[in-house]
Amino acid sequence: RKSVVRITTGSQALDELLGGGIETLCITEAFGEFRSGKTQLAHTLCVSTQLPIHMHGGNGKVAYIDTEGTFRPERIVPIAERFGMDPNAVLDNIIYARAYTYEHQYNLLLGLAAKMAEEPFRLLIVDSVIALFRVDFSGRGELAERQQKLAQMLSRLTKIAEEFNVAVYITNQVIADPGGGMFITDPKKPAGGHVLAHAATIRLMLRKGKGEQRVCKIFDAPNLPEGEAVFQVTSGGIMD
Ligand code: ADP
Ligand code: MG
Repeated sequence: RKSVVRITTGSQALDELLGGGIETLCITEAFGEFRSGKTQLAHTLCVSTQLPIHMHGGNGKVAYIDTEGTFRPERIVPIAERFGMDPNAVLDNIIYARAYTYEHQYNLLLGLAAKMAEEPFRLLIVDSVIALFRVDFSGRGELAERQQKLAQMLSRLTKIAEEFNVAVYITNQVIADPGGGMFITDPKKPAGGHVLAHAATIRLMLRKGKGEQRVCKIFDAPNLPEGEAVFQVTSGGIMD
C-alpha cells in the first residue's frame, strides 16, 4: 500500500486546515470566483512539491495541464527563490501542456500517465478542469453527454492519483445557483454537479478577503473538520 504524502501550500494556516497540506492519492478541488487565488495556489504547489519531504514537499516532479492559458513560468522564479530553490531547476521539473479541447485534455492525461510510469511525479494540476467542457458542450441538451465525458476524465485523474501516488489539484468555476435553500446565503455553487462532487475528495472554496488576503473554507472533506484559513497571495506565492 502506498503511503500518503502531504505537500505544503506555503501557508501554515492553510496547511493546518488541510491536515498538513495537499494529499497524494486523491483529488483536491479548489473552486471560487475569478481572482480568488486558485491559479496562484497552483503555481506555489508547482514549487513546494519539489521540496524534500522533510521540508513538507513531495520530492517529485509536477505535471501542469492548463486550459485557460494562465500559467506564467516567470511567476515560478520568485516562488522558487522564496523556498531557496534554483528557479531553472524547478522550471525543468514542471511538465507543462496547454489543452484546447476536452478531448485534447483527456489525451494529454494518457500521455502523462506514460511519463509518470518512468519518472517520479508527485503532483498533477488541471487548471481548470471544467472550462473546456463548458465550451465544448455549450448547447442545449448536451449536459448529459458533458457529464458523462467529465466523469470519464475525473475517473482517469483518480486512477493517476492512486497508481502513481500523486496529488491531483484541480480548479473549478462557480456558477449561479438557480434556487433552493442550500445556497441562500451565497447564491453560488461549484460547477460540475454530482459528477465532480463525487470525484473530488477534498473540496475547497476560495474567496477574496481584504487586499491580498484570501479565505479558504472546507466545502467538503470526509476527514477534515469544517473551518476556514486566511492566507495571502504574494510575489513569493501563497503565504500566511
Ligand atoms: P483565480 O485563478 O482564482 O482566478 P488567481 O490565482 O489568478 O485567481 O489570483 C489572481 C490574484 O493573485 C490577483 O488578483 C492578484 O491579487 C494576485 N497576484 C497575482 N500575481 C501576484 C504577484 N506577483 N504578487 C502579488 N499578488 C499577485
Ligand atoms: Mg485561474
